[in-house]
Amino acid sequence: MTKQNNAVTPEFKSCINNLISTVVLPSAATVPESMALINGFLGFSRKNFTKRLEESKVNAWIDSMRAASPTRVKSSENQEKCSWILYHPSALKLFDQILYSAKRKQIVFFLDYDGTLSPIVADPEKAFMTRKMRATLKDIARNFPTAIVTGRCREKVFNFVKLAELYYAASHGMDIMGPTKNRSAEKSNVNKAVLFQPASQYLPMIDEVYKILLEKTKSVSGAKVENNKFCLSVHFRCVDEKSWAPLAEKVRLVLNEYPKLKLTQGRKVLEIRPTIKWDKGKALEFLLESLGYKNSNDVFPIYIGDDRTDEDAFKVLRRRGQGVGILVSSVPKETDASYTLQDPSEVEHFLRRLVEWKRSSIVNPTSA
Ligand SMILES: [Mg+2]
Repeated sequence: MTKQNNAVTPEFKSCINNLISTVVLPSAATVPESMALINGFLGFSRKNFTKRLEESKVNAWIDSMRAASPTRVKSSENQEKCSWILYHPSALKLFDQILYSAKRKQIVFFLDYDGTLSPIVADPEKAFMTRKMRATLKDIARNFPTAIVTGRCREKVFNFVKLAELYYAASHGMDIMGPTKNRSAEKSNVNKAVLFQPASQYLPMIDEVYKILLEKTKSVSGAKVENNKFCLSVHFRCVDEKSWAPLAEKVRLVLNEYPKLKLTQGRKVLEIRPTIKWDKGKALEFLLESLGYKNSNDVFPIYIGDDRTDEDAFKVLRRRGQGVGILVSSVPKETDASYTLQDPSEVEHFLRRLVEWKRSSIVNPTSA
């Protein structure tokens, strides 16, 4: 498996141009001479060369999306899965080991939503979590500081989760709000305290691109564009696989006109975000600091997520040497997470065990 950087950024385009201008050329050649040489050598123009590279990038997204969205596991892949599990063991099987690492430290939970707390479903508007999961999540939040970290917009994820006592880092952490004890706020999140919105100046541009994408993608059956306020998602879940490449190309062409926005690829989704250096990992660090654990050794963050965008948070935990990252996946994927859980039902089981352990440790403090 090969990890790929899927963002088409201005830096990427500049890199391509530099590559064309400098690779394998006589040192005394001027830029125009160099271009003539390289054009002659390659047999096509810089424009065509760049276009082909952009097209191959679209193909790379599609290949990566297929790999990240498997529908079946071939028997020949079983061996690979076994060795992968050795390096990324089940968080349920090694539950006691995780507890030992967390001993006498404050556990703080960071939880992705889609594919982690709720199953991935065909219609993203219907990604509901179960009652059991909501009850467990409520108990988790009673016992540990807990944040939902998601690509969804704040209003939408709150409508799914409906728990006012949590932190919400929505739009990939670009819209962070804190919990409230106000009972009336449980029905609506309007009273919640906004802690941080690092991309607020991008809102008009995001709205503009949303409208263009709606128009450009309406001819592709099943394509869905979701406005997550500070970022956009183009969902491929209901699109025939034969139409994935043409749809990705449509999105790329729109984004070409907006160098301040970048494109990343997830599970059956392309996501459009501002080019600012902010991601789920930065959101995790911001929240730890807000909770007073910036330089603390007494904190044990547990981040659970299923997607490529969650890798930024797993990397932060590895760099800090704190807590654990848990990837939700039933198939091998390259990851910086230490442990794995197969699906949302295993996530619920893991969270429930943490609640039971916490309750027993209150009764018997020496066990914690
Ligand atoms: Mg997810």
